[in-house]
Amino acid sequence: MKYLYLLAPILAFFAILAVYFLIQTNRRPVPHYEPEEFVFDAEEYLRQLQREHKPLGKSGVHRLLLKRTRQKPGVYLESLEPVMDSIGLEIVNVFHSVMGFDYVPVITSGNDWPYHARMSKHYQNKAIDFRIKFLLNEEKKSIVELATKKLEGRARVIWEKGSMEHLHVELLD
Ligand SMILES: [Zn+2]
Repeated sequence: MKYLYLLAPILAFFAILAVYFLIQTNRRPVPHYEPEEFVFDAEEYLRQLQREHKPLGKSGVHRLLLKRTRQKPGVYLESLEPVMDSIGLEIVNVFHSVMGFDYVPVITSGNDWPYHARMSKHYQNKAIDFRIKFLLNEEKKSIVELATKKLEGRARVIWEKGSMEHLHVELLD
């Protein structure tokens, strides 16, 4: 007990030390944010889309599809089946993996065009068309292949050729 009187200064010393470290910690400069060079990763993008789907809700997914695409004037998509919004976004992802992330696919038809076959799924809001006619043949091929694989069992992907060439995507029954 002889050295008990030393306890007070020692405790005081550590208290001051603690305060000093707290101040130093607060003084540390805010780390500067250096955005890394953007590298597009199609798989990561798809995962992101899938994460976005749930909290977004139906109308959110629809808005996302409209945002990620351009639409030819007159295209009517407002009554599109919600599942077609998701399928549309997956097609957008396919375009991105072939054409790069900056590519904005164009939807050329929904439930609008009077020239589809009478029983066409377009009139049931279960089909959309994408523009592909200005792409290279190799790009078209890759897009059709990837889309077909990705939507297997859920949607039919048809490469409509000829003067009205486009990519037709319709929901399977
Ligand atoms: Zn079509």
